[in-house]
Amino acid sequence: MTGRRWLTETAFAHMRMSFEVARVLHAEHGDRHRLDLIENPLFGKVLMLDGATQVTTADEFIYHEMMAHVPLVAHGAAHEVLIVGGGDCGLAEEVLKHPAVARLVQVEIDARVIDFARTHFAEINAAAFADPRFQIEIADGADFVRRTDRRFDIILVDSTDATGPGAVLFTESFHADLRRCLRPGGIVVTQSGVPFVQPDDFTTAMRNLSKAFATTTCYVIAVPTYAGGHMALGWASMDRDPDAPDLATLANRAASLATRYYTPDVHKAAFALPRYIRDARDAAVASRS
Ligand code: SAM
Repeated sequence: MTGRRWLTETAFAHMRMSFEVARVLHAEHGDRHRLDLIENPLFGKVLMLDGATQVTTADEFIYHEMMAHVPLVAHGAAHEVLIVGGGDCGLAEEVLKHPAVARLVQVEIDARVIDFARTHFAEINAAAFADPRFQIEIADGADFVRRTDRRFDIILVDSTDATGPGAVLFTESFHADLRRCLRPGGIVVTQSGVPFVQPDDFTTAMRNLSKAFATTTCYVIAVPTYAGGHMALGWASMDRDPDAPDLATLANRAASLATRYYTPDVHKAAFALPRYIRDARDAAVASRS
């Protein structure tokens, strides 16, 4: 380890993950975030905001494919999609792989993150920026959903963790506004933390989603960047069953989707929760009233 430099993530109370720094590509204090971009031999480009890892070029496909394709393939005919947050725009590229999507609105609070990602992460977002269906609004996502009269088939909350500007995206009132913005048959998916290392964020996400929606659960993904066990993506709807549709229908709908992590089998399996996560979800949902 002598002579090597390391960048340490400081997002968690009792655990730290460090990335070897092959090169510092950029470091700045923006209006809303401190921003660090480094190159790592294993993860490629690593972007941290305020000491929390947001995206790496080597494993972003896992998080972005699973956040986009699980609800979009399950829905089957989503035309209007909203992303809240999502500054690196890698999620937008996955959403826009679905030809049925007529319009994708992304509401991001920090214009600097978008500009920065456009310059430094073209390999994961160039197709989104070239797509006329993609619209970016610079605003607080909570303000946007409180005021808008637009309605969406799918809403994806690709947020930072539940501190700083991202805290509002874990609140009860935000989830109530999401429900109002959802069309019949709509699905909401939210970044809900790593339950083992962020139990409070996970519990808050599950409890507040379940206060607003008829059905709340989560599905799990394994992302090397988000260390500490499975990451949970919250799933909520007024009128859809997370077990539907069946595997054959998923396979049919996903037949021409180019992916590296998502498969219809993985889609189904992701809803099978390890017992400690299932119990934490159930306890959070039971505590909603
Ligand atoms: N995949 C990442 C993760 O799990 O850590 C999240 C990536 S994305 C870069 C998170 C984005 O959410 C950031 O660009 C941040 O500026 C944005 N964000 C945070 N709070 C927000 C808010 N209240 N409204 C809109 N965007 C917000």
